[in-house]
Amino acid sequence: MADYGFNTLAVHAGAQPDPATGARATPIYQTTAFVFEDADHAAALFNLQVFGNIYSRIMNPTNAVLEERVAALENGRAALSCGSGHAAQLLALHTLMGPGDNIVAARQLYGGSINQFSQGFAKFDWHVKWADTTNPDSFKAQIDGRTKAVFIESIANPGGIISDIEAIAKIAHDGGVPLIVDNTLASPYLIQPLAWGADIVVHSATKFLGGHGNSMAGVIVDGGKFDWGSGKFPSLSEPCPSYHGMKLWETFGDMAFAIACRVLGLRDLGPSLSPMNAFLVQTGIETLPLRMQKHCDNALTVARWLKANSKVEWVNYAGLPDNASYKLHQKYCPKGAGSVFTFGLKGGYEAGIKLVNSVKLFSHLANVGDTRSLVIHPASTTHRQLSDEDRAKAGAGNDVVRLSIGIEDAADIIADLEQAMA
Ligand SMILES: *Cc1c(COP(=O)(O)O)cnc(C)c1O
Repeated sequence: MADYGFNTLAVHAGAQPDPATGARATPIYQTTAFVFEDADHAAALFNLQVFGNIYSRIMNPTNAVLEERVAALENGRAALSCGSGHAAQLLALHTLMGPGDNIVAARQLYGGSINQFSQGFAKFDWHVKWADTTNPDSFKAQIDGRTKAVFIESIANPGGIISDIEAIAKIAHDGGVPLIVDNTLASPYLIQPLAWGADIVVHSATKFLGGHGNSMAGVIVDGGKFDWGSGKFPSLSEPCPSYHGMKLWETFGDMAFAIACRVLGLRDLGPSLSPMNAFLVQTGIETLPLRMQKHCDNALTVARWLKANSKVEWVNYAGLPDNASYKLHQKYCPKGAGSVFTFGLKGGYEAGIKLVNSVKLFSHLANVGDTRSLVIHPASTTHRQLSDEDRAKAGAGNDVVRLSIGIEDAADIIADLEQAMA
């Protein structure tokens, strides 16, 4: 399908009429296991000598359509779906890391990822060293002999800061490690990180890919270009004891990383995606280009309105010409700067509480990337345990409000903010 355009791939990639029934939409293969043809077929499947379905923890035909579609949209070699965005991060790093290893990650990340990297992964003796995504050289200073990857978000949640993927990819490669990009807030409609030198893309498909706020899902895309032969990545280059000493990189070449995430990571850690959710996410992806453009157009309209409002202290949206990320927005995602951004209310903490209590069209909740417009006041919710000083450092100061602008009429979104701010 490589010759088709992005809109066509969003609708068709990976799918075909069901060979058994002719069903045009991809069926939900709601089954745990798949019958073997005979004992030889079973043995070949378990030995990874032939590809095929065994058990839905590892592989399922509905999920396979989603995987092929996201791989096509990101222009990657292969993909793997799993139960959530956090599961995608876990599986990607499980393939690369051993006890005592570290990743160098941007400080500007989704709050849940900061917790996962600094708290959850510490239990595996995996460590994180922080860098500043607005200063690519800060990554260089942090890479050491035990570093196994650099991790950034293309558009960072919540501040909407845009990372210089090309510059950071070069620094990662000079350090002998792959660049992993969380492309959740941009989606491949706005940015294709692999085209700028990234090696691996991860998604919380819970957000814009699914797009309707109805299912948790994650995806890993393998760019297929990284050289795993340096000896730093034994899961890929060394004999694998659980597959009779097979070397995955030697055997599977440019798909080795995606395969390792599946046949080692998903197999042993188990955060698989339900076929029902795979179906919902792939249905969502069919309208990704339409939705994403509307999200961005609405967000720009709302950001401009806020900027001109006397109750607003500041607006941090990369689509505004005076924003620090504006140049990178023009380089990496000229179609739009995404739909998630923050602004500050002159009335501080109290004004933030009043706003979230007074909205009618907006939903006050902890999510982004829904068709509906969403709002949260981080200081009183996601960041409430932190001190005032730590909140400010995390970009969640007392006056900060985060919006995820939906695809409703922009006039209605603005009218709701106006009445809530009054
Ligand atoms: C939500 C989110 C995640 C985590 O994804 P889940 O599907 O909630 O596990 C990771 N990165 C970003 C940028 C997110 O917004």
